[in-house]
Amino acid sequence: MIKTKRCIFLDRDGTLIDTPETKSLKPKSFNNLNQVHLKKDVIELCSHLKKDYMLMLFTNQPDVNRKKNSKVNVENINLFLKKKLCLDNILVNYSDDEKNYFRKPNPGMLFYAKKKFDIDLKRSYVVGDRWRDIDAGSAAKCKTIFIDRNYNEKLNCKPDFIVKNIKQILKFIK
Ligand SMILES: [Mg+2]
Repeated sequence: MIKTKRCIFLDRDGTLIDTPETKSLKPKSFNNLNQVHLKKDVIELCSHLKKDYMLMLFTNQPDVNRKKNSKVNVENINLFLKKKLCLDNILVNYSDDEKNYFRKPNPGMLFYAKKKFDIDLKRSYVVGDRWRDIDAGSAAKCKTIFIDRNYNEKLNCKPDFIVKNIKQILKFIK
């Protein structure tokens, strides 16, 4: 019998790593690896979750297509996180096109992972700090955990759980 796997899909900017402070409370991201700081307790958290779940980064990086950042910069940060947090895989989308199926809020990255790694999406979680993460997770029937960082933007779908920082996800992941 093939056993399907459970996975926690983790957004990158604002979820695993800090983002620049902006006066408008708009989510932004850093470009360079040397600007990257992991959120508090993320290493311990991931090593704990890895006992029962696959862990995957899933991130939109449209600044590459907008010519505001290079693919190499994005890959350097992603590989650093993969190594540091022992992630099983990285899912990244560079498109700036809202219709792109693999760009959050669309669920393409999650369905791709389901197929490639035999993941049971219904028993998996999506964790992110933006409505895009929650919409993607909801469309793929994952359980969704929203990290509320007080951005000046509204949610579209209702998340299953809301937390204030990533460590609190442990309360909800069974
Ligand atoms: Mg984010």
